[in-house]
Amino acid sequence: MEVKTPKIDTTNDWYDQEHDWRRRTLLFFGMLSLMIVVIVILSALFVGRLRKIADTETERYLSELTKSSVFLVDARVQASMATISHAAREYVADIEASKDPMPHLREVVELEALSMIFLMDTQGHAVSTTGLEQDFSSHRAVMDTLKGATVLAGVALADGQTCIVVGVPVYSDGNVIGALLACGIVSRILDYMDGNFFTGDGYFFVVDTAGSFFRRAEGAANPDIDTVFQLLAMDVENADGIEAMREDLAAGRDGYLRISSALDGKNKILNYMPLKNSDLYLLFVVSQDATTWHVSGLFREALVMIVVVVLLLPLMTIALFLSYRGKNKALSCIAFSDPVTGGLSETKFHFDAEKLIRSAPSKTYTLAMVDVKNFKLINETFGSDNGDRLLRYIHDALSRLIGEGELVCRTFADDYALLLKNRDQQAIMALAEQISTEINRFNSQRSHKYYLAITMGAYEIDDRKLPILFIQDRANLARKESEVHLSNTNHLYSCAFYSEEDRKRLYREKEMENQMDSALASNEFEAYLQPKLDISSGRIVGAEALVRWNNPARGLVPPNDFIPFFERNGFIIQIDLFVFEQVCDRLRRWIDAGITPICISVNLSRVHLNDPDFLAPFITIKDRYAIPTEYLEFELTESLLTENIALVISSINRIHDAGFSCSLDDFGSGYSSLNLLADVPVDTVKLDGNFFRTLKMTDYRKRTIIESIIDVAKKLKMTTVAEGIETKEQLAYLRWIHCDQAQGYVISKPLPVDMFEKQFITKA
Ligand code: C2E
Ligand code: MG
Ligand code: MG
Repeated sequence: MEVKTPKIDTTNDWYDQEHDWRRRTLLFFGMLSLMIVVIVILSALFVGRLRKIADTETERYLSELTKSSVFLVDARVQASMATISHAAREYVADIEASKDPMPHLREVVELEALSMIFLMDTQGHAVSTTGLEQDFSSHRAVMDTLKGATVLAGVALADGQTCIVVGVPVYSDGNVIGALLACGIVSRILDYMDGNFFTGDGYFFVVDTAGSFFRRAEGAANPDIDTVFQLLAMDVENADGIEAMREDLAAGRDGYLRISSALDGKNKILNYMPLKNSDLYLLFVVSQDATTWHVSGLFREALVMIVVVVLLLPLMTIALFLSYRGKNKALSCIAFSDPVTGGLSETKFHFDAEKLIRSAPSKTYTLAMVDVKNFKLINETFGSDNGDRLLRYIHDALSRLIGEGELVCRTFADDYALLLKNRDQQAIMALAEQISTEINRFNSQRSHKYYLAITMGAYEIDDRKLPILFIQDRANLARKESEVHLSNTNHLYSCAFYSEEDRKRLYREKEMENQMDSALASNEFEAYLQPKLDISSGRIVGAEALVRWNNPARGLVPPNDFIPFFERNGFIIQIDLFVFEQVCDRLRRWIDAGITPICISVNLSRVHLNDPDFLAPFITIKDRYAIPTEYLEFELTESLLTENIALVISSINRIHDAGFSCSLDDFGSGYSSLNLLADVPVDTVKLDGNFFRTLKMTDYRKRTIIESIIDVAKKLKMTTVAEGIETKEQLAYLRWIHCDQAQGYVISKPLPVDMFEKQFITKA
């Protein structure tokens, strides 16, 4: 037979996924573009800030340079002034000694590497050591020497040259008799400075307060241009600050000017600063690149980094995105298939099943949950590898059995889910049988058979909007019901169907489970007593304790509504002990009040019998209240005998050993035989109420049975009690057949203990 393992459907849902991916991709690229824009804006801001820092740096640097140059020139000029002043004194000494002063002065020229020295009289007329004659009478700064000032001044010479002179007064007898004007000192210093700045990218000028050149940098300015302002007017595109500079120069202030050269297109900074004791200015012009070369390097690196980041970041992100997408697809494949069976994973099953359910009319599909019983044993006995192989084998078997448009998956451990289409309950029952046959087929090749039982629960999906997990829960609920059926049959399979009643019952049970502990603690449970009448004497000789639940929300709840559930969850043990204690408490009060008590029977749930020591807590309670055991009886229901008769007999023996008496409750409700009475050593037999409910005096067959039971029980020395006696006729009949006791509404309904006491207990 061919295995019909459903392939992972990659059509519809993949389309949806692709669609989703396209949306994600768009979103991704949108985000990426936004990121690049943000990076570019931040980079631009960064570069701008860097440039600003560079500009400030350049200004600071140039100003420092100018200051130190001015300081250097000033210092040299001071030194020269001292030399020239000394020469002036020697000159006066020569005159007074009637010596020719010229040779002395020429010596100074040579020593100091001057171009010449002018000897100026008080009229401003001067003769130089080289024989040049010059009239300085109109030169205000030079003429200041005659007032005793030492000056530095730019002069235009008669030979057409310009020169910067250091002028000192010549004193004789305390009076100024003229001045010495030394030419060439400053030029020498400036020659030294020339070319040492900015590797040729900067140069300097000496100008006077009107901007006229007295020293121009080599090749830096056209010789036909006389003033710096003429040069600026020619050389700059935008020289907004020129006017301000003109005012600064006239007022003797220092300052700077940013210019953009029209000639070489370079941005330059011009810094000017006055020289001491003069009307001269030292004026530096530096190309911005020359001072900011280190910052420019930084710029370039930053720019390269930004470009690299802007290019690499998207590339890397795209690479990551693609790899993530690839991995995601691979993960999807893994997530959509079950590694053990190779079939659909539960996720994929849910996805596909929900789609199918929603697209069809309600009740088209049924979801069935299948559980393999005792699978844990297989893993433990044959190892988990073999366990896995078996799980795959079962999956394959299920795949073979489902039809077109139906789905199967392993949900968890050894549980499988089937989505079945258009199958009624009968067909589903048949499928359960087929599954059981199919998965046990492997036994045909085995010498040691190992049969696998399955339980199946099915929910016909009438509510298509229900989430798939809830649908699965409903099928599982039915499956749990089917477990009960399985334990009652010899079949290898069982199947149950979900019903709304089951769900409601389950809901109620859950509610009870939540409430039970607090209910017990707050005395919501109460023991009622129903009297047992001694038929021949007409006296009340005993009572049965029956539990009630005074539920604040539901009112008085009868035991049949909660006892079966409490038997399943084990809480019945606490209930029985509680009822037993209530009974003991009442007996104690009666004894203390001098009343001869009656025997009270309590119902003992089957759950107790699983514990060999189950009687211990009862004995403890009985002892605490010091109740003689003759007043206490345990009722064991007849249905217990079908389960484990040996256990029941040993339990009865224990009850007897402890001194209590014991009755067989509900006798005749099942299919127990009279023979059983011989085996079960109880003291009392309680005939089930059903015997009498529909009994007609003409029904001889039934009467024979009842009378036989009474007869046999009597012969076995057992007391006979008839339950559920509702009419006087029934009571008369019981008297006639010599039944010992009767219990039923004709005598009294079960009553709260106080009421029972008032009605049936009299002081001896
Ligand atoms: P049961 O032990 O056979 O108790 C007799 C049941 O028959 C009681 O039902 C009682 O109220 C009812 N009954 C008595 N006389 C009449 C009558 O004339 N007509 C009719 N129709 N019914 C009559 P109840 O109290 O609802 O208890 C039902 C069952 O729940 C009990 O059957 C017993 O098996 C169980 N049960 C009650 N209380 C306890 C308890 O404390 N522990 C345990 N383990 N089981 C209890
Ligand atoms: Mg009973
Ligand atoms: Mg009964």
